[in-house]
Amino acid sequence: MDITFYGAAGEVTGSCHLVGAAGKRLLLDCGMVQGDRDADARNAAEFPFDAKGIHALVLSHAHLDHCGRIPLLVKRGFNGPIYTTSATADLANIIMSDSAHIADMDAQDANRHLAPGQKPAEPLYTQDDVYAAMKLMKPLDYNEPQEILPGIRVILRDAGHILGSATVEVAADENGATRTLVFTGDLGPTGTPILCDPAKVAAADAVIMESTYGNRLHKTRVDTLSELAAIFQAAHRDGGNIVIPAFAVGRTQELLYFFAEHFDEWQLGHYKMFLDSPMATRVTACYDRHEDLFDEDAKKLWLMRQHPLRLPNLSFTADSGESRAINSIRSGAVIIAGSGMCEGGRIRHHLRHNLANPAAHVVFVGYQAQGTLGRRIVDGAKHVHLFGDDIPVRAQIHTVGGLSAHADRDGLSDWYGAIAGHPPVWLVHGEDDGRSGLADCLKQKWGCAVNLPKPGDKAPV
Ligand SMILES: [Zn+2]
Repeated sequence: MDITFYGAAGEVTGSCHLVGAAGKRLLLDCGMVQGDRDADARNAAEFPFDAKGIHALVLSHAHLDHCGRIPLLVKRGFNGPIYTTSATADLANIIMSDSAHIADMDAQDANRHLAPGQKPAEPLYTQDDVYAAMKLMKPLDYNEPQEILPGIRVILRDAGHILGSATVEVAADENGATRTLVFTGDLGPTGTPILCDPAKVAAADAVIMESTYGNRLHKTRVDTLSELAAIFQAAHRDGGNIVIPAFAVGRTQELLYFFAEHFDEWQLGHYKMFLDSPMATRVTACYDRHEDLFDEDAKKLWLMRQHPLRLPNLSFTADSGESRAINSIRSGAVIIAGSGMCEGGRIRHHLRHNLANPAAHVVFVGYQAQGTLGRRIVDGAKHVHLFGDDIPVRAQIHTVGGLSAHADRDGLSDWYGAIAGHPPVWLVHGEDDGRSGLADCLKQKWGCAVNLPKPGDKAPV
C-alpha cells in the first residue's frame, strides 16, 4: 500500500490523498482550495492524476475543502463509487450545489464585460455535474466494515467534527498480509454539542492526521458559555439587537443548541430570533433529518423540553423581503446571518443597520481571515464602508473563541495515543506552525515517527 499527498499538505484546504492498494487507486477526499490568492486557478487546474483511473473515492465529510472538487472530478471522467455516510452525502449535496451556483454567478459576472472576440468564461462545474456526482454516492453506516473493491475494506467511524463526519480506515490484502491505514479527515473536539465524540481507533499500520490546531489549546466550553452569558446580560441591559455573523455548517447549529440549553438563563424568551441565511436553514434542516446521529445530551434536551434546533421564538427567513423586514427592528432581536466573515450575504445589511447603534452587540464566533470585513471590525475599525455608505462602528464588538469544530493539540494527541503501537503518522491539513507543534507533541509523548509531507510526496505503508 502507498499514499500520495496531493492536497492539504502544508495548508488547511484542498484535502486530497491518493492510496494505491491491491492494484487499485482509491482517492480520500477531493476538496477545494480556499483563501489562497491563486485558489481559482488551482481549483480549475488539471488533477495531478488521471480522473478516469481512480477506482473509488471515500469522502470524510461535507466541508467544501474536502468535497468541493468532486463534481469537477466527475466532469473530467471519474465514474466510480463515492463512499461516505448518508448524512455527509445529504450535506455535500447542499454544499456542492451552492458551490456550483457561486461558480455560475462568477462566470456570468466575468462575461458581463467581454471584449469582442474574447472567449466567455465557463463555470468550474454546473448543477448537472453535482447531480452526476450525487448519483455515485454509496452511503455507509458508521462502524460497519465494507469491501469496496476486491481486497480493500473500509470502515467509517464518527469524527465528531460536523454532522456525518468520519475517520476512514482502509484495510488492504496484499501478498498474503493485511495493511491498515487510518485517515482522520477533520477531527472534532470532545463535547461538541449535538455530535458524538470522535471514536477511537484500536490499531493501524499508518495514520494520516489533520493538524489544524496542532499548536493550540482551546478555551474550555465552560469559559465560552460564560462569555456568551455575559454578552446576553449586557445586551439585555442595553436593549439593542444582537447580530451574529455565523458559518452555515456546524457553528450555526451549535449556537442554536446553546440557545436551547440556556434559554431561561440567558432570558432568550424576551427576544425575537432570526436565522437569516438560506444556506444555514438548509443545513439545519439536514441536521434535523439525521437526528439519529445526535449525541445522548442532545436527544435528552429534546425529550426534556424542546428540540435543540426548533426554538419557539426562532424564525427562519425565507426570502429577501422577510430579511429586509428585520431591518426595522431596533431592539430585542437576535439575528444570525451569513457569511461568517461578513464578506457577502445578508449579514452586511444587518451590520449596516446595527453597527452605528451603541446599544447593539455584534458577536463573532468564528475565525476572521486577514482582509475580510469581519477582521477589520474585530481589529477595531472605527468606520466601515457598506453599500456605498460610511458607517461608524459604535456597537459593542465581541469575539467568542472556543467554538472550534477541530480538536486542539491535546485532543489530537489523546485520540492518536489510543492507537495500539503508535504507528507512523503523516500530518496534513495544517499550516507549518500547527504541524510542527503537533509533531513535537506526538514525538515527545508517544515516541512515534512523524512525517510532514509536501504536495506530491509518496510514502509506503
Ligand atoms: Zn472540516
